[in-house]
Amino acid sequence: MTKAEQGLRGSGLTKEQKEVYLKTVRDVLENMTEGAVDRFDQVVVRFEFYTDTRALTKVGNSLRKIPLDDPTGIQGMWDGSGRVLHLDGPGKVDDAQSIYAHEFSHVLDWPNHKLSSTPEWGALWKEEIANNVVALSDYANAAPSEGFAEFGRLVFSNKTIAGQTAREHAKSLYPRAYRFWEDKGLLPQVVVKKPSGVKGQILKEAFNDKLDVAKVHIDMWDKRAIRPSTPKTKKK
Ligand SMILES: [Zn+2]
Repeated sequence: MTKAEQGLRGSGLTKEQKEVYLKTVRDVLENMTEGAVDRFDQVVVRFEFYTDTRALTKVGNSLRKIPLDDPTGIQGMWDGSGRVLHLDGPGKVDDAQSIYAHEFSHVLDWPNHKLSSTPEWGALWKEEIANNVVALSDYANAAPSEGFAEFGRLVFSNKTIAGQTAREHAKSLYPRAYRFWEDKGLLPQVVVKKPSGVKGQILKEAFNDKLDVAKVHIDMWDKRAIRPSTPKTKKK
């Protein structure tokens, strides 16, 4: 039995919900290389699944000093201390697979942002992600570690955009980031058939605020969070 299945056993979810959650986990893992799946399995100790976002937010709020106005604000959490993933199901700001992909990418970056804190990622994040006319997302521009997890949200999704896979877009728009993941054995090689025609932003915004408290990373959508829109450097 996988750890995800173990987590579902004591979750109080219905049979149907369990199937949906498990499929979501599998859909993300299927987009990973074998090496990435192995790494993920080694790092994650436990999954905590919640019936809905309200229940997840309640647990997150117990860690926060200020509870969220919106009782459905917390999208996902990664507890890097106990190595526990806290997840719920559909009905998120973006689809659940997208949220899982973001959190699973934090797992691959464990411990202490070991990949996203490297000078190599820092430099390419700054030049290629945070200053790209085609934004990955606003959230990706917030920090190198969020840029890393948002990149994972793109490449571990099954999204097809304008006839091309998310990975083809990722490689075309952010080639250095793609190569970094490929070098770390987290992504397979991909052949880009034509350049990405996406303009503006590739990912739907799924988070607008984060909090790291006692090694727990909380990704949320807080109505009160006012994040000034990131100025984009136009490249000629
Ligand atoms: Zn995050």
